[in-house]
Amino acid sequence: MTGPARFKRIRVEEGAETYSQTSVILGRLNGLPVEHVKPVQSRQGPGALDLDKETLRLLPFQGEFLKPCPGTKEYICCGYQILHVGTNCPLDCSYCVLQAYFNQPELRVFVNLESKLDQIGDYIDRNSGKLFRIGTGEFMDSLALESVVGWRKLLLPFLSNRMNAVLELKTKTEEVDGLLSSPWRERIIVSWSLNSPSIAAVEEKGAPSIKKRLEAARRCQDEGFVVGFHFDPLIEHQDWKDAYRRTVDMMDDLINPNGIIWISLGCLRYMPLLKKVIRKRHTGSHILDGEFILGFDGKMRYFKPIRVGMYTYMSKILNQWHDDLGVYLCMESDEIWQRSLGWSPEHSEGLSRYLDQRAANVFGMNY
Ligand code: SF4
Repeated sequence: MTGPARFKRIRVEEGAETYSQTSVILGRLNGLPVEHVKPVQSRQGPGALDLDKETLRLLPFQGEFLKPCPGTKEYICCGYQILHVGTNCPLDCSYCVLQAYFNQPELRVFVNLESKLDQIGDYIDRNSGKLFRIGTGEFMDSLALESVVGWRKLLLPFLSNRMNAVLELKTKTEEVDGLLSSPWRERIIVSWSLNSPSIAAVEEKGAPSIKKRLEAARRCQDEGFVVGFHFDPLIEHQDWKDAYRRTVDMMDDLINPNGIIWISLGCLRYMPLLKKVIRKRHTGSHILDGEFILGFDGKMRYFKPIRVGMYTYMSKILNQWHDDLGVYLCMESDEIWQRSLGWSPEHSEGLSRYLDQRAANVFGMNY
């Protein structure tokens, strides 16, 4: 098995065996024990949040595959559309919101995606006046299971051929061989979550170093892919300014800034429930050491002056490197935008327009 996944067993849920993706995945993981199981009920009570990253569960998903990212009206949201291909992730970041998000512990892959593509495509085509920025990296890492599932074979031709959609594959891995071997480049964005080298080493278990991520991004750039980056979550830690500068210096060494579509900045935020999980599962973690307040979205976040200080510093060092990187803030208010970046899109529609425009410029689309 290549990639970060270390499965010990596969569970095939009733109904999943009729989809060809199930046979493809079982073929790739030939040799692992396979159990045929009934659909599970959501767990409640003690142990409900325990994770099982060694079990891959294949199932047909009964909900909507494409839906808007659930922002909150109090903060400016980017208007992203989530393509819901599965849940959970083989990597193990201490701050991962998914630890408190799903009460189903295993890595779940929705094997009926292919059968829903026509329906999703019709919806995108019917709304030809709208630009869909679509991502698969909200409920799992977009590439961590690529060598097992092979989503690229379905998704790249499906979205690369549509004139009003871009697909962003968001990852912390170096799993780009499959992408590089594909012929599709148009309207495909590969983006990496970045942090300081020390946070990556301590808080992002199972993920490659920042240098390795950037080397993978460089390979993608060299092969004609548009790339993006996400400094999210920015974490206040010892000498954080020097630490984040080291990452930007590495970007300078390895990445052509002209090929970057956008870079987002977002300070650490977490649901209060996550605190218990972090204490239990990540005993060496320091991310809860800072001072937090409860935000309007019910999540804990740093005090305003800390957030403004981090965003101001990050945008300054990024803009010193290159002045057109499409730096934007994730889930912040108009006031924080103004104080940190000196401008604001004012509301979520404004940020959507800004990002749509960047995508349209990069890919020569008419918006
Ligand atoms: S890579 Fe993303 S989805 Fe995976 S564990 Fe880390 S934060 Fe969670």
